[in-house]
Amino acid sequence: MDESKIIRKCIACNSLKPRGSLIKITKHFKTNEICVEPNSCFFGRSCYICRDCECIENAFKKKRIFKILKINDNNELKEKIRAVLEN
Ligand SMILES: [Zn+2]
Repeated sequence: MDESKIIRKCIACNSLKPRGSLIKITKHFKTNEICVEPNSCFFGRSCYICRDCECIENAFKKKRIFKILKINDNNELKEKIRAVLEN
């Protein structure tokens, strides 16, 4: 499938962007493991954030990302997401 035609919304700035320009974060439906940029075999509740430091910060402000994924505070998660930007 052409990823550029799949549109998703950033949870920080609410803008709609092609899937490929967003970072995907998924919580596995069974194990509750959190995966940043999971492969297509990893299913669960997902959200998307722009590849942008400001959006990453905003997603963690007011614990928005934790509410959306229904997870507890997770300080490692922001580091994992930021690491994606550096690649
Ligand atoms: Zn954004």
